[in-house]
Amino acid sequence: MIDVEKIRRDFPILGREVYGKPLVYFDNAATTQKPRCVIDSISEAYCNENANVHRGIHFLSQHATDLMESARDKVRQFIGAGSTEEIIFTRGTTESINLLASSFSRAFLNKGDEVIISGMEHHSNIVPWQIQSEIHGFKIKVIPVLDNGELDLEAFKTLISDKTRLVSITHVSNVLGTVNPVAEIITEAHSHGIPVAVDGAQSVPHIKVNVQELGADFYAFSGHKIYGPTGIGVLYGRKELLEQMPPYQGGGEMIKRVTFEKTTYNELPYKFEAGTPDYVGSIALAKALDYVQSIGIDNIAGYESELCNYAIERLNSIPDIRIIGNAGHRSAVVSFLVGNIYPSDMGTLLDRLGIAVRTGHHCAEPLMDRMGIPGTVRASFAFYNTKAEIDTLVAGIERVRKMF
Ligand code: PMP
Repeated sequence: MIDVEKIRRDFPILGREVYGKPLVYFDNAATTQKPRCVIDSISEAYCNENANVHRGIHFLSQHATDLMESARDKVRQFIGAGSTEEIIFTRGTTESINLLASSFSRAFLNKGDEVIISGMEHHSNIVPWQIQSEIHGFKIKVIPVLDNGELDLEAFKTLISDKTRLVSITHVSNVLGTVNPVAEIITEAHSHGIPVAVDGAQSVPHIKVNVQELGADFYAFSGHKIYGPTGIGVLYGRKELLEQMPPYQGGGEMIKRVTFEKTTYNELPYKFEAGTPDYVGSIALAKALDYVQSIGIDNIAGYESELCNYAIERLNSIPDIRIIGNAGHRSAVVSFLVGNIYPSDMGTLLDRLGIAVRTGHHCAEPLMDRMGIPGTVRASFAFYNTKAEIDTLVAGIERVRKMF
């Protein structure tokens, strides 16, 4: 199904050493490494295709525009959206959610209204809503997290009121690996006429996502977490909603006609893409999605789930280990603590062994508070990781344990 050795050869960085040790890269939830085809496509774009898009009549401008627009269609197809008008290119999940929070609030949120988020959100699905709530006076309600790292769906139902205007939740937790039952949450919210936004930063790279089958009204993700370049991301939004929402930023591209008296805005999706877009990033993102599809998202999900189960089993053999989050349905992330060893100490010592893990609060401080911990050590997997690398991690943790 997955030929890991062949796949690894596609990723130049995986061949390097760190402190004289082979790199073991387990920080994939922060960012993924890039296959040669993505790196080459960036070089090819600047060597052969570069010109500013959408506004040129000359050959290169039209060529670059065609490549960018076919990248948009690739994204549309990848996430199962109905139309390219619903695919907005952004800088990443963070910008997607800021765009959504700013524009949705101006269109739909007033004093006394309510937005529901969850207790396991990344800061990028908390703070944009707080910023807007200060301006528009709506309230933020939070779905509690259970001890096992799942959302309390019964509590969610009781949070819904006739003032709820939006639910915005993460599909997969970047700390606990929990895969939230977003289809169920969307069905419940829709039964009250409430739209749902989904933070897909940690889901799109790992599990099959079809926004129409899920019924998501908005869906955000980052290119760099799905083997694409940094600086490019996506906000999917349902056309009926996007049409009612005002622009996020003003400038070139997003207008139809500008006078000093009145400006009219461009059609979707350009209304939300002010200024020169990262067309090179879009083109390279499409290459990354092609690459993922060439392996097959179901193969990826299956292999990563095998890796994750193996990691949990091996980690559980370590005395004093505490795995944070034990959801029934989880993705390729494992967070843990070992005895009283501070996460940053563990991370620093593992690093010396060539093992890259992430430590700290993972931009989810409210979740850390809920779990009563200052932070975790997090190993996050991609389809280029191996069981042998997990053995190296476990041996490394054992070594660090013995030092304390
Ligand atoms: N949401 C989740 C669940 C994430 O894991 C991340 C990245 N760690 C983000 C949002 C933010 O993504 P980005 O930094 O690419 O904008």
